Amino acid sequence: MRIGLTGGIGSGKSTVAGFLREAGAAIVDTDAISRALTLPGGAAMPAITEQFGAEFVTADGALDRDRMRALAFSDTAAKRRLEAILHPLITAEALAQAEAARAPLVVFDVPLLVESGRWRPRVARVLVIDCTVDTQRARVLQRPGWTPARVDGALAAQATREARRAAADAVILNEELPLAALRNEVMSLAARWGCETMTPP
Ligand code: ADP
Repeated sequence: MRIGLTGGIGSGKSTVAGFLREAGAAIVDTDAISRALTLPGGAAMPAITEQFGAEFVTADGALDRDRMRALAFSDTAAKRRLEAILHPLITAEALAQAEAARAPLVVFDVPLLVESGRWRPRVARVLVIDCTVDTQRARVLQRPGWTPARVDGALAAQATREARRAAADAVILNEELPLAALRNEVMSLAARWGCETMTPP
């Protein structure tokens, strides 16, 4: 079975992905795929260089992320052009990884699954990791380099809690939940979705 895993920043999505991997699922990390595509020699670099110019490429041949982030933030058309290059490559690589996976459950970890809409037809279920915005803020502010303004910017660029929940087949409320309890919830979901039941730690 193929499922989509999503959640707002700081929801605990990556933590849940780790537990799902532990349960025996194969995780297809679309963020990691996107990053790999824009490293030196990455499959997206020729098209990016052609469309945006060499000034968006670092000396070693990677995407200049800061520069591209600034452009995409202020210029929606540029953002779309970048997505038109990246999205088909991300999808192709994610599907190739899913094909190659030898696991009862394949999990597509997609931060913007609800926002983009192109993943829903490819998965049997959508699992949303949910928590309050206050908790998201508190968790993300623990990360080095994150200010309240940067967190608010990230939150504003993502779907609301309500929109995400409305798109979900299953929701894990990761709020005031000890990590061990979160792990148990994930393990029982994984078992329900085809992974062998794991013995408790
Ligand atoms: P996301 O991938 O959704 O941005 P993470 O899984 O990285 O979120 O979680 C954000 C932070 O919150 C991490 O430091 C993680 O360890 C912590 N965290 C998540 N869920 C819990 C929980 N139930 N209890 C304690 N800490 C948690």
